[in-house]
Amino acid sequence: MTIFQRILAGEIPAKIVHEDNDILAFHDIAPQAPVHILIIPKRLIPRVGEAHDSDAELLGRLLLVARDIAKVQGLDQTGYRLIINNGRDGGEEVPHLHIHLLGGRRLSWPPG
Ligand code: 5GP
Repeated sequence: MTIFQRILAGEIPAKIVHEDNDILAFHDIAPQAPVHILIIPKRLIPRVGEAHDSDAELLGRLLLVARDIAKVQGLDQTGYRLIINNGRDGGEEVPHLHIHLLGGRRLSWPPG
């Protein structure tokens, strides 16, 4: 069980900001910006590289939930960044697909 599955199961507490039938979003435990929220599908998709064409609607909804949370967090005017780390070189640590929503400060580019 990944750490995110344990959060989904209620075994580990998280500061939840959104929940619906298919998606959970909660604050990252080690925030890299004033706002750092993770948006995950409840159904296990390990990473984008293992998503199926049939996951298209769920993948799209993850982005729309990120959009809505960004607005609630007051980031829609100042901007924000959505990140998905995929695999070793992408910096993925938790093998349960998640979108990072980062905002509240000016983010540098390119990433390290
Ligand atoms: P990744 O590197 O896989 O893209 O991102 C994993 C993220 O999960 C990291 O930003 C890390 O801080 C976060 N994380 C790891 N363990 C926990 C936890 O127990 N609770 C929460 N809320 N976030 C976690």
